[in-house]
Amino acid sequence: MIISTAEISTLFDFTFNPWALFSVWSVIVNTILLYFIVTKGFQVAANRWFALVILSLITWGLFESLDRFSATPVGSDFWGVGGMMGWGFVGPLFLGFTLLYIGKDKIFSSLWVQLLMYGPAFIFLFLGWTTGLINNRTIASAEKLFYGWETPSAPYFWLATGWLIGLLITSLYLLVRHWMSVKDPIKKKQTTFFIIAVSIPVIFGSITNALLPILGIQIFPAAVLLTSVMSLIITYSILRYKLFVINPATVVTNIVDTMNEMLIVFNPNHIIQFTNRAVESALGYEKNELVGEPFKKILRGPWVTLHDKIFKQVHEGKTLSGIDLELISSKGEGIPVSLSASPLRDKRGGIFGIVGVATDISKIRDLFADITAERNKLTTTIESIADGVLALDYDGVVITINPAALRMFGFSMKDVIGKKIDDIVKMFEGDKRLLFSQLITKKRLTKDTIISQKENLKIITTFGKQVYVNLTSSAIKEGLEVGLGAIITVTDISGEKELEEMKLDFVSMAAHELRTPLTAIRGYLSVLQEELTKALSKEQQSFLDKAFISSSQLAALVENLLSVSKIERGAMKIEAEAQNWKVSLQEIITNFSPLAKEKDIKLILNCPDNLPPVMVDKFRISEVLSNLVGNALNYTNAGGSVEISAEYDKGKKMMVTRIKDTGQGIPESAITHLFTKFFRVSGVLEQGSKGTGLGLYISKAIITMHKGDIKVESTLGKGSTFSFTIPVSTNAKALKPTGTGSIVPKRVFVRKNNVLEAAGK
Ligand code: ADP
Repeated sequence: MIISTAEISTLFDFTFNPWALFSVWSVIVNTILLYFIVTKGFQVAANRWFALVILSLITWGLFESLDRFSATPVGSDFWGVGGMMGWGFVGPLFLGFTLLYIGKDKIFSSLWVQLLMYGPAFIFLFLGWTTGLINNRTIASAEKLFYGWETPSAPYFWLATGWLIGLLITSLYLLVRHWMSVKDPIKKKQTTFFIIAVSIPVIFGSITNALLPILGIQIFPAAVLLTSVMSLIITYSILRYKLFVINPATVVTNIVDTMNEMLIVFNPNHIIQFTNRAVESALGYEKNELVGEPFKKILRGPWVTLHDKIFKQVHEGKTLSGIDLELISSKGEGIPVSLSASPLRDKRGGIFGIVGVATDISKIRDLFADITAERNKLTTTIESIADGVLALDYDGVVITINPAALRMFGFSMKDVIGKKIDDIVKMFEGDKRLLFSQLITKKRLTKDTIISQKENLKIITTFGKQVYVNLTSSAIKEGLEVGLGAIITVTDISGEKELEEMKLDFVSMAAHELRTPLTAIRGYLSVLQEELTKALSKEQQSFLDKAFISSSQLAALVENLLSVSKIERGAMKIEAEAQNWKVSLQEIITNFSPLAKEKDIKLILNCPDNLPPVMVDKFRISEVLSNLVGNALNYTNAGGSVEISAEYDKGKKMMVTRIKDTGQGIPESAITHLFTKFFRVSGVLEQGSKGTGLGLYISKAIITMHKGDIKVESTLGKGSTFSFTIPVSTNAKALKPTGTGSIVPKRVFVRKNNVLEAAGK
């Protein structure tokens, strides 16, 4: 039908009609019910379908109200046909809902079923709208009845209504069958409500809206009103009995079909009765190719053995699990599975079948093979490496040890495995005993971590073998789960250590040998300097001075080398006595003043009088002070200043001494290396001073021996502050100033070329 613009206004030409209020009422009721369903149980699929049913009822009721209110037959015809969008879909939607409710929703997965359910609804809608077959659209034949406009029934109206009623009756039939089979009393009650609810519109609606009109008998068409009664009853049961809980049968079917394990049920004669989808997909069979077949069709291996091993026992009532079997796929491939089997019993306890659950373990097997290969690779690697490797548990018991470690310690496998490592070897860091158990962390780790790295450890085994090692202890994050406390790698450095010792011996011997002739040379040179001042020309004097400077530098180097070799061998001893610290600092100032003046550098002492006495080796500590003050003067330009300050840190019971200069400073990258042997900052700073790079190394060693700490802060171009701590004497009272005047070793004066002339004279 084509509506002209003039007719559009007619469509909205309404007049009041009390009978239309029934349709309005059903719209209101259904809308409220829709609200309840949506808010109370939308997560259940059946509820969602019921919501759709109600939606179609609302649409139907809405159009019917407009039809009834229409003042003209044109409007009534338009809204009446529109109502098909509602009632045309009530049938299929309700059937869908019923199927879901009784757990037969699998049927939906077929496209054909969907087409069959909804296809006719669309066809009827189309025909109803465009032809006069379903709806009589001859406006002229419309007659105004008490409830609204009505036309005589169209020739195929019965087909559409018959189809709708047919679907509703099918639903009713399914519900009745469900009612008969269901045991749960609540479910039964729910289904009863359903059946009553659907029956009302089906029976009475089809009489008033279809049968009587078709027969030409006029009566109020009450179908819409009756559907609202249906919705009311069903919604009541939803809220009253929690109607739409998931059907247990559906749940079980779903679980069985979605589980990864293969489920096979067979009868006492070992004929397969049921298989789930996992069986079909794993073995590549269709369900009907297996059901009814003997179980041995899909089993590899001699049936007799399997029967005795498994099935006989299950028949005797036992439940077995973890049986390794091989199933055969449709292509003849073997699939390794782990099978559990248990008997199925009837009410009297008789066994009427066996249910088997099989897990495909081919992936696990592959994984296992991978892990084994991986482990073998690792074992081979560990066994072939030259470093010693030990794995310890959390109590320090040796789990594994590689041949290199056995060789290193002179053990055989049985000497160590299962033993506490600390019971069979003794490890020393310097003089201190170090336990392997201290190298294990019991903390939960988030990643594989190196717990500690130690160098120069001495290890003595129970057999008296002695080795020097560098050691790394690491732990893996899964350690706690697998009981692996630490993986210890040890590198034998005994050879290097020996070489190092030989080197130190040589250096110390050579230095000792050089010391005596150097002293003689310097002695004679200084005598010559004194005696010949007048007899020599200026140039000759400067030759003599240069010879003296060089020999003094050489002497300083020799002294430094001797100190280093003493430190490295652990031969340097500290003889600490209580000292007045301010006096020591003043002496340093006195000794360095001439040089400072020469270089035009202000040398300042900033130190309170009431400092507690310190506990130091006077000679060694003055070596430190000379080094630091010497450096400060050396690396500071004319016009700058060097300030020595001291304060007592009460909390730590340590004396803090600072040597602050306004010199060139030290680049940040050099700071970490500053206290290492032979390190000198390269570049501009090097110029003009011929140091050895040993002063700070020796100073640090001395301070460390005093249990103190030395550090530096420096800004390039602005200056550096070296600070160190030394212990204070706990029992001695503040000492009187007892200047000795000679605590500063003489060589300090000559260690830098430009220092000598000022300091030596
Ligand atoms: P040496 O002074 O004999 O070279 P040290 O071990 O005393 O050896 O010092 C190492 C290096 O540290 C020096 O060569 C110098 O580059 C740098 N250094 C030490 N003290 C200072 C300082 N006060 N200012 C700048 N650089 C310094």
